[in-house]
Amino acid sequence: MTEEKLPNWLENRAHLSPDRPAIEFEGRTYTFLELHTLTGKMAGKLANTGVKAGESCAVLLRNHIDSVVVIHALFYLGVKIVMLNNKLTAKELSWQIEDSEAVRLISEDSFSEKLSDIRDILTDFQVLLKEELPEEGTTEFLHEFNLEDTATIMYTSGTTGNPKGVIQTFGNHWWSAVGSMLNLGLREEDSWYCAVPIFHISGLSILMKSVIYGMKVVLVEKFDEREANRSIQENGVTIISVVTTMLNRMLHDLGKTSYPETFRCMLLGGGPAPVHLLEVCKGKGIPVYQTYGMTETSSQIVTLAPEYSMTKIGSAGKPLFPSQLRIVKDGKTCEPGVAGEIVVSGPNVTKGYFKRLDATQQAITEGWLYTGDLGYLDEEGFLYVLDRRSDLIISGGENVYPAEIENVLSKHPAVFEAGVTGTDDEKWGQVPLAFVVLHQGAELKETELLKYCGDSLAAYKIPRNVIFCEDLPRNGASKLLRRELKKRVGKQR
Ligand code: ATP
Ligand code: MG
Repeated sequence: MTEEKLPNWLENRAHLSPDRPAIEFEGRTYTFLELHTLTGKMAGKLANTGVKAGESCAVLLRNHIDSVVVIHALFYLGVKIVMLNNKLTAKELSWQIEDSEAVRLISEDSFSEKLSDIRDILTDFQVLLKEELPEEGTTEFLHEFNLEDTATIMYTSGTTGNPKGVIQTFGNHWWSAVGSMLNLGLREEDSWYCAVPIFHISGLSILMKSVIYGMKVVLVEKFDEREANRSIQENGVTIISVVTTMLNRMLHDLGKTSYPETFRCMLLGGGPAPVHLLEVCKGKGIPVYQTYGMTETSSQIVTLAPEYSMTKIGSAGKPLFPSQLRIVKDGKTCEPGVAGEIVVSGPNVTKGYFKRLDATQQAITEGWLYTGDLGYLDEEGFLYVLDRRSDLIISGGENVYPAEIENVLSKHPAVFEAGVTGTDDEKWGQVPLAFVVLHQGAELKETELLKYCGDSLAAYKIPRNVIFCEDLPRNGASKLLRRELKKRVGKQR
């Protein structure tokens, strides 16, 4: 097979549309030509310290213009980038650095405490601080990207077990960007707001789209709902990527005001979307695109367009054009309406996990990725994600999906958030058990909440008990860790 190559994305973009805005950060806008020039200089400095083609470098960086430059510079040098989640502990980071076989870490002063802890664990390992790089340096760089080559190694969030290093090739990123554009279209005035972390695929994929499309990105270090709303209302932002908590906060801040017509996409992903939130957005005319995706699919792979947001409420939509989807149970493709494992394929789907042949073989069969998520398709092919296979509760032979119960619980006005897990039961095998955090100052009795559940849930789905608690266990990606809830069960009952 001949190798498929594309011209170096940022270099090519700077050649094709040098004066278009690439990134706005802290009030300053950088054109593609400026970004390319900065990247070339950064590549020279990194080469001067010994960074070279073929190796893997880990990066621990904030959302910042300098970080964007470092990432492109590493691509220019032909270095595989291990994207580290900066919310992780030094111990977790050290594990990922070792596991990924990165030969050095590029970071910045603002992580000095974590870095010193990492140095205690990984003695003999080079840490380069962005602030301490040499002043100058020149180097040759790649003018072509081979689509089969590894661009990034990104660890999964570790919600269901230990994080796994997902290999993302240039081809994966390319097709993810193309698939998204075939779905959303592209307008000259598009400006994509990036407040999601660039170490996560949600943020990194925006940076990739910027250079591939020639599109402006407004990058912020930290999400702030007021700033995000103002950017949409006054600063021409047309698309924003959010997770549920961000959207919740934006709606709260929005109050009675609304968004201008030019705002065309609220891209919602990362996890299940509570139905009541979608209803509020519909009422306000906010164009929410629900998405389903994972690190392994290099960003979204299934999307629901706003015109279906009410008729297909709760659905994650249909696959992007280059991708395919099936529901599989006991080795067979399911009929519509029948639940099974969500299985996907497409040029945006990973080749596998780094150094994890077993996990790769388990997850990928003949080019199809078994996601570990359960769901079903309706008659028209719309996907409904039910839950993770590992969190499924089987009670008296019936499948019970924790997410469905959490959805009902969190609709109660006194409930801030809820997590559900299964607990052993002599009669039924397992029964659901709820952990609930109330809004500050709110009061609610267990019996009252269970009665409330009875209005919307079949008897076998109603939690056996409700345990009121202060918080729910979450990982570095803020995802609910139901396996930790399981551990609490024994202690709290
Ligand atoms: P790990 O694989 O280590 O357990 P993780 O799966 O949480 O971690 P990510 O790749 O960040 O790591 O998350 C992808 C997962 O998020 C999906 O497999 C799915 O379970 C969940 N998810 C994403 N979008 C949706 C959605 N629209 N509805 C329900 N779940 C979703
Ligand atoms: Mg996963």
